[in-house]
Amino acid sequence: MQSDEIRLKFLKFFEERGHKIIPSSSLVPENDPSVLFTTAGMHPLVPFLLGEKHPEGRRLTNVQKCLRTDDIDEVGDYCHHTFFEMLGNWSLGDYFKKDVIGWSYEFLTSPEWLGLDKNRIAVSVFKGDEDAPFDNEAFDAWKNLGINEKRIAKLPKKNNWWGPAGITGPCGPDTEMFYWVGDINNTPESFNDDNPLWLEIWNDVFMQYDKTKDGKFKELAQKNIDTGMGLERILAVVNGFDDNYRTELFWPIIGKIEQLSNKKYEDELKAMRIIADHIRSSVFIIGAGIAPAKREQGYILRRLLRRAVRYADTLGMNQGSLLNIADVVVEKYGTLYKEILEKKGDISLLILDEEMQFRKTLEYGLREFEKGVDPFVLATTYGFPIELTQELAKEKGIEINIEDFKKKMAEHQKLSQTAAAGMFKGGLSSTGEMEKKYHTATHLLLAALRIVLGGEIVQKGSNITAERMRFDFNWSEKVLSDKLKEVENLVNQKIIEKIPVEMLEMPKDEARKIVTTLSFDLSKYGDTVKVYKIADFSTEFCGGPHVKNTGELGHFKITKEEASSQGVRRIKAVLE
Ligand code: ATP
Ligand code: MG
Repeated sequence: MQSDEIRLKFLKFFEERGHKIIPSSSLVPENDPSVLFTTAGMHPLVPFLLGEKHPEGRRLTNVQKCLRTDDIDEVGDYCHHTFFEMLGNWSLGDYFKKDVIGWSYEFLTSPEWLGLDKNRIAVSVFKGDEDAPFDNEAFDAWKNLGINEKRIAKLPKKNNWWGPAGITGPCGPDTEMFYWVGDINNTPESFNDDNPLWLEIWNDVFMQYDKTKDGKFKELAQKNIDTGMGLERILAVVNGFDDNYRTELFWPIIGKIEQLSNKKYEDELKAMRIIADHIRSSVFIIGAGIAPAKREQGYILRRLLRRAVRYADTLGMNQGSLLNIADVVVEKYGTLYKEILEKKGDISLLILDEEMQFRKTLEYGLREFEKGVDPFVLATTYGFPIELTQELAKEKGIEINIEDFKKKMAEHQKLSQTAAAGMFKGGLSSTGEMEKKYHTATHLLLAALRIVLGGEIVQKGSNITAERMRFDFNWSEKVLSDKLKEVENLVNQKIIEKIPVEMLEMPKDEARKIVTTLSFDLSKYGDTVKVYKIADFSTEFCGGPHVKNTGELGHFKITKEEASSQGVRRIKAVLE
């Protein structure tokens, strides 16, 4: 069975059960500066999981392009990739555990659908703890489907719980499905979480609780289902492989690498998997409109490409070979993902260019590294990524002092490379410290503008990166420089006053009464909203995150004031 068929079957299965098929969102989240890439199918649907009405209804299904930079160190094994496709189905306050478990099992095992061997399936459910009880509903659902109790593991939060840790908001238990990819004649009677031959193929999350500020777990009014199944993994097991790279999605790529390196896959598993994975991801990242750069998505792309170059070198491949591998990826995915075909030219150009640039860096950097030069000097003088230094050091058994590196880097430039290294992790909690500061500065700026220019000022747009903020507001003429200075001084005054930033959660209607400005449409927010309050100076609706105290912001400086569009001015500012 080919990947095309699995995608179609999955969508058809859920469409027949009342789901609307929705398109994959972009790999780069459009309105979420807190993450670099979409890491799961649920990610673009967060507002709807939080209560906003989805135009397509309460049952949705799709195939989502995902990228998990967190998994980069796992790449090289048989089942973890950075880029992968996730098949998903959602219930927004509609069906719940019993239905979704029944459907998952039917889709996996029914001969009409994937027809997987029931004897090789195991599952896990939440064991229960002081926060929430044992998930006997999920347990019973599996048992009633005929799964042997020995194959239903009861596991703690670490394994079977979804939710942003330590924060308030929706969360809940999940149930995971595993498939035995070891020797079929020796399929173990019971499931063992530690055995990597039990491959996780699908995860059904039950958004059941709301974690409140006082640490309690209340039942949610709208309970949701969020499921995710990795296409590459399911394609492998359906076709009897114990290795995703042997499937039709990867095998032509591996074949090309074998040809270019004149080596055999069996002998070079790790290197070939890493090259195949990283080039495939790079093609999709460039397809999303990103070019190699010093930070954010561009930095991830750079890191993936440079790592691929290093592994290509270990296989003795010629310079410029990565291009030929990328061509295979474009051919494989171009029909389904049009952006890749459209960006074919960029893909070749950028990959070749980055390789050449990296070779120059490598040449200098390696010489210096061998001389024992400080990783900090390597990074700042030769642009030698710290991750590369770490890898080289590991290869050569040299210790490097990463704390020392971080300290120097932070001193060197407040906005250090470590911020980008932190961003590399991705996930829901990777907002950089700088972004947080700029979020808070945005609130101060709006409040200051209202005082200096007038109470009718509202936010018309805002864009934050780790190095600057941009803020649009309704005003039709140039803001004179003395007024700008006043605004700047006022913001700095509030920073100097070291005011605590308070976060209040309250019903939307109550919040309406206390916020200063209603800058944007509230319909996309759920019934309970967050309000950030900075003494009497500013009270705003906002999802956050923010710093704890204005004193953390440093010095605020307006760098530019210009027209943005008719009746809208734009201020650019930095924190120093
Ligand atoms: P694992 O424990 O194997 O890393 P996970 O718990 O991180 O998986 P989920 O976050 O539940 O996985 O993601 C849902 C599904 O997506 C998984 O069941 C799996 O099929 C697939 N998946 C997750 N991570 C990867 C990856 N790095 N590469 C390929 N598929 C993945
Ligand atoms: Mg994982």
